[in-house]
Amino acid sequence: ARLANQIAAGEVVERPASVVKELVENSLDAGATAIKIDIEKGGAKRIKISDNGCGIEKGELTLALSRHATSKIKDLHDLEGISSLGFRGEALASISSVSRLTLTSKPADQESAWQACAQGRDMEVTILPAAHSDGTTIDVVDLFFNTPARRKFLRTEKTEFSHIEEVIKRIALARFDVSFVLSHNGKIIRQYRTANNQQQYEKRVAQVCGQAFIDNALYLDCQHESLHLHGWMATPNFSRKQNDLCYSYVNGRMMRDKLINHAIRQAYSDSLPAETYPAFVLFLTLNVKEVDVNVHPAKHEVRFHQSRYVHDFIFSVCQQTLTTQYS
Ligand code: ADP
Ligand code: MG
Repeated sequence: ARLANQIAAGEVVERPASVVKELVENSLDAGATAIKIDIEKGGAKRIKISDNGCGIEKGELTLALSRHATSKIKDLHDLEGISSLGFRGEALASISSVSRLTLTSKPADQESAWQACAQGRDMEVTILPAAHSDGTTIDVVDLFFNTPARRKFLRTEKTEFSHIEEVIKRIALARFDVSFVLSHNGKIIRQYRTANNQQQYEKRVAQVCGQAFIDNALYLDCQHESLHLHGWMATPNFSRKQNDLCYSYVNGRMMRDKLINHAIRQAYSDSLPAETYPAFVLFLTLNVKEVDVNVHPAKHEVRFHQSRYVHDFIFSVCQQTLTTQYS
């Protein structure tokens, strides 16, 4: 069982940052409103995520650690309208097979907490009583300790942590309603408080993207039939030499989608001087039935059923924003 899970892990667990992404998404799927991320040594030593979500019942702990066990889709038809972030039931089993993972959880209606870990070649699960408040903690120690080839590919502590920071930034922009605290080697590096109004949203955007971005940003909010686009795009005079302020989301999922980026770039291309790049934080929402998210395991890409229509919508909203508000 361990070997099969390790092979699967090759797809899901590329580096510490991918572990962080999977675990934080699980916390979000569990309805958490506060998530704490503690990292040691760039994540190679420890990745510990605590949330105040719904928790996992004692009787479900073993299942949660086994492959292709997901509580999130009941049958194949559900695949068409997925709204939860995870749905493959692979992450915990995969991560557990390439690290020393313990899972501690307490649903609010359960009297006490329990801790589970899967060990050995057969990934046999041991369950012990534990102390924990309502919610879940996943503690991942010594990532890749048993897969030396992969461990060798880890970069410096600083580089790995910067990838983790980027994951947290992307998620923090997707979920203003959730608070996040990210620590590295015992020191708080980023702290995002829950944001409930436009002013607080902009404060979080400034924390993630820098004050200069928000000071030069145009806010847009546009709906056409079932398509809705809102967020911030920087004016062309906000010049950045680096191409790293491109945050786009589809139904709350962070994306690195070619179609979306292309539409936005095209809108910018007339007004951007040379050596500058578009910078934006944009959220597209549409009917979940109009988009497939099951395209890539890392889930950064989507397939729109009416891709041309979506592309043109994004392009025209962005272009209008740039030309009417800034000309
Ligand atoms: P998936 O997210 O694709 O369902 P995972 O392997 O990531 O699969 O998680 C397996 C299961 O464990 C989830 O379906 C969920 O029921 C449970 N789970 C994982 N993390 C949490 C969490 N933080 N809070 C509550 N339940 C969780
Ligand atoms: Mg998951």
